[in-house]
Amino acid sequence: MNIEKNKVVSFHYDLSTEGQPLESSRKGDPMSYLHGAGNIIPGLEKNMEGRQAGDQFEATVPPEEAYGHRQQNLVTRLSAKRLGVPASKLKRGMMLQVQTQQGPQMVRVLKAGRFMVDLDANHPMAGLTLTFDVEITDVRDATAEELAHGHAHGPGGHQHGEEE
Ligand code: ZN
Repeated sequence: MNIEKNKVVSFHYDLSTEGQPLESSRKGDPMSYLHGAGNIIPGLEKNMEGRQAGDQFEATVPPEEAYGHRQQNLVTRLSAKRLGVPASKLKRGMMLQVQTQQGPQMVRVLKAGRFMVDLDANHPMAGLTLTFDVEITDVRDATAEELAHGHAHGPGGHQHGEEE
């Protein structure tokens, strides 16, 4: 079965940038997604098209087809006081959730001084060219429910609570 729109694809991946490993799915279940629904980054989804279970390949995805380029206007300087977290507790690289006009957002601490903190709302992988080592483990038809939800269910896919 070839990967095309409305198939659920399961795959393992090792992700790296310029030879530096970033993450891997190998310790758990393969990841599952609904093809054609924008569940994964566009550059990877494009490389999946037409492949089959058992296929292994490497895909190199530039930032514009992954998490975009870094934007300097997403870096803001705030007083630690306004952030409500003691400056002594802040460390470079730490992730924090802050309230913005668009709702809660994850930001990374770029620099923490005694009074001022530089926060970066760029995606941690923004600006990176990503290399995926992919092994496709399964391709199947999506269920009606998956199509209605716009994502894959089951191990490696979207996990709903009992009440849903
Ligand atoms: Zn669902």
